[in-house]
Amino acid sequence: MRDPPVKKILYWCPKCNVPLIGSSCSCGSEAVKVPLLKPYEVRPALSADVALIKSLVNEKFGDASLSDIMLLNKSGGDDRAELVIMNGERFGWLVFSPVNRKYRFDIAPEGIKYVIGSATKGILDIEKDTGYSKSMGRIGGKRIQLNTFFPDGTYIVKYRSRYGTGIVRDDTVKIKELVAAEPATALNPGWKEAVRRNKNHLKNLEHTAIRTIKQHMNDRPCVNVSFSGGKDSTVALNLAGKAGVKKAFFIDTGLEFPETIEFVKSKGVDIIEKGGDFWKAVERAGPPSKDNRWCCKLLKLNPLKVYLSGIGPCVTVQGNRWYESWNRAGLDETNQNPANPLQLNISPIRGWRALEVYLYIWWQDLSINPLYEKGLERIGCYLCPAMLESEFEEMRSIHPDYTKRWDDFLEKWAEKKGYPEEFYEWGLWRWKALPPKMREICRDNDVEVNYDYTLKTGSFERKTPAGQKAGKTEEPPESRDSEDKKNSAGRPETVPVKVLESGNEVAACGYDVAAVRKDFPILGDVTYLDNAATGFSPEKVLDAVIDFEHNYRSNVGRGVHSLMQIASQKYWHAHEKAAKFIGGEDGVMVFTKNTTEAINMVAMGMSWQPGDRIITTVLEHHSNLLPWRALSKYGVSVDVIGLDSSYSPDLSELKRVISPKTKLVAVTHASNVLGVVVPVKEIAEICHENGVKLLVDGAQSTPHIPVNVADIGCDYFAFSGHKMLGPTGTGGLWMKMADLNPVFLGGGMVESVTKDGFVPEKGYRMYEAGTPNISGGIGLGAAVDYLSGIGMKNIRDYEESLTKRLIEGLESIPGVTVYTAKDPKMRIGVVSFTIDGLHPHEVAQMLDENADIMVRSGNHCCQPLMECLGLKEGTVRASIGLYNTVHEIDLLVASVKEIVS
Ligand code: PMP
Repeated sequence: MRDPPVKKILYWCPKCNVPLIGSSCSCGSEAVKVPLLKPYEVRPALSADVALIKSLVNEKFGDASLSDIMLLNKSGGDDRAELVIMNGERFGWLVFSPVNRKYRFDIAPEGIKYVIGSATKGILDIEKDTGYSKSMGRIGGKRIQLNTFFPDGTYIVKYRSRYGTGIVRDDTVKIKELVAAEPATALNPGWKEAVRRNKNHLKNLEHTAIRTIKQHMNDRPCVNVSFSGGKDSTVALNLAGKAGVKKAFFIDTGLEFPETIEFVKSKGVDIIEKGGDFWKAVERAGPPSKDNRWCCKLLKLNPLKVYLSGIGPCVTVQGNRWYESWNRAGLDETNQNPANPLQLNISPIRGWRALEVYLYIWWQDLSINPLYEKGLERIGCYLCPAMLESEFEEMRSIHPDYTKRWDDFLEKWAEKKGYPEEFYEWGLWRWKALPPKMREICRDNDVEVNYDYTLKTGSFERKTPAGQKAGKTEEPPESRDSEDKKNSAGRPETVPVKVLESGNEVAACGYDVAAVRKDFPILGDVTYLDNAATGFSPEKVLDAVIDFEHNYRSNVGRGVHSLMQIASQKYWHAHEKAAKFIGGEDGVMVFTKNTTEAINMVAMGMSWQPGDRIITTVLEHHSNLLPWRALSKYGVSVDVIGLDSSYSPDLSELKRVISPKTKLVAVTHASNVLGVVVPVKEIAEICHENGVKLLVDGAQSTPHIPVNVADIGCDYFAFSGHKMLGPTGTGGLWMKMADLNPVFLGGGMVESVTKDGFVPEKGYRMYEAGTPNISGGIGLGAAVDYLSGIGMKNIRDYEESLTKRLIEGLESIPGVTVYTAKDPKMRIGVVSFTIDGLHPHEVAQMLDENADIMVRSGNHCCQPLMECLGLKEGTVRASIGLYNTVHEIDLLVASVKEIVS
């Protein structure tokens, strides 16, 4: 994702000692710049935060007098991790550990001068407390033995008049650079002064935001504000009111704090009553998680839908901001709500940071939800999985009555499912698949994690007593800086985890599924099991397409300029990659828009004689049947052979039917309904013994199993790029020899044209008349690289194990019938099933509505097969892809069980 135009620095007036939201202060001074950390969100420390920081500093160093203006810059960590900015400099780090449930404060080198004047403890004197002697040379960067006991942690380190920070671990101290430092004090102007100094900037911000609202508020017949009870929507409500918006609504999820409800009422906002019953739903669905927020649909989106259907199309002003989370970065000024097409959302404060929000609130003297001053950073449902553990801890003291119910539920759920105590003690329930940081914590503390990063269930013996995390050294602030950089590079780090190969777990996967999932921006809250229809594209493929558009877009093969040279080279190279991917280096790889086009090119490109025959099978997709039937106009007829008991084409029938009149056998490599893998190599032998050509429809095999056309011995191989992670509108036809007549004639496919004839180009170009889908082809090349990078054998093995789990799960449910090949080696992850008494469309719809599972239903473009199986309404089809997880398979099985019951 490209970075939005966010502010990466904070301005500060050195004279007034206040933060600024613009580059100048109303006192006339030029601001200094303070660099911020991603996601560049910065907010004032409110009273509870300031009290916390002051108490941690005092506990560590004794009484220190600190400024009341402190800012908190959110950064990456195990839980809450914020850079504290004071007096226009980094003062230190406020960090919460979800394991020992404690805060700590690590002072930054720039903050030392504000503490040493009054410090009575927490200072490690190199001369007194360590075995350092001058003969050891430089101090900075060294690990030095201590001769006084200091518990592990971060300290101020002193050598004569030079100071720095050091990390103590196992009776040694590692010291950063030491610099000369004198005790310093600074002006303590307070936030009122900061507001005064920012007034002009605030006026500008307000003006722009109101203009934005006014510009769009009449785009639909009515306008309202979506109010959440939080600070951002408090500002949005105020701005909208000034623009003339009168209506506002709040959705009561039933999981709100009483303070929030009181506050909403005080603002005169309409309250929409809650949608579903969370407590009933959670007993079945389990705790919602950051990566499965089913609760939002039940408690927010559904009631919103009902509300909107009552008021019709509307414009809704909301308080979403870029800086809240990186997911929201890039949010447009207006956007159509994808879940509710009736609603056009305006985000007038999308470019504000929490600093702007609070300064505005104080300038306007707006009342805010009292929970902020009590220490909560975000306010929503009291059991929201998006919350930090530090916030849960805070809530336990603010509202023990509310949190107890949730804590009790989590404990019972963990017991029921066999999760370890850490599931609720460290807040691990907040993820279905644990992120790298949590996996690292689990690894360090011997908490077992499955290969798909879910927590292992079963009986656990805790190695370390709760709240006593042994031996983990505090990280120096700088290392968190570099962590931030690593994350911003966008690549998921991979942390080795224990791979489980026991009983009902699937076999070890040869690749990191969780890391792979991060490459697919579209994978989110939904479970996508319709990969047989089309798959998703990873970032690398999208990048390749965008790279073409941004950097070298031009036509291919028809000129000499440099852009065309680059595009032609890359487009040609994509053909080479695709050919190699299916073991077809010795043939011709033609790019098409899909399998269907490839098959039609064979049907129309072969030279037919009246009386010629084609053999195909009842297993085929309409795309491998209708093009052959259409040849009846040339006197060509089609024989359709049936299936044997394992749903595979009946080869004895094939041998019986094949005759000297047969010119072509066209058969699928893998069925898109039953998942059956067809023995195409055996069929090729039969064909060749009879001098017959073989076309293999590889639409379903190419994305899931290693394919080698040379080994198969086929003459033509058709496949769809969009089913194998490539862009839509891509596919290919591989030919052993360029022996087809080109179907499409025109530019690009000819070497020369005379008055009455033409000489075609060589190779694929002969078959790609006109301007092809260039970016798509290049994207397909990137998809092939991606699949090869993971390894088709790895993908095959992993999908095979998921398929087994799915089939076994479904077959165990009474009333469910599964249609599949028995031999795991002779099937791919396409699993068709029916439920007694329910139409497949009904089942698919219920899976979507109840559990956000996307499966296909109906006849899957295979009506003759459905007739043959006696399934006139078709089947429900779940089709697996390389990014699906065990959890998703289990979710599908559990959801089907629920539907049946
Ligand atoms: N053959 C098979 C076996 C298929 O599964 C499909 C797609 N479902 C096709 C052909 C047609 O593919 P496309 O829509 O990409 O042309």
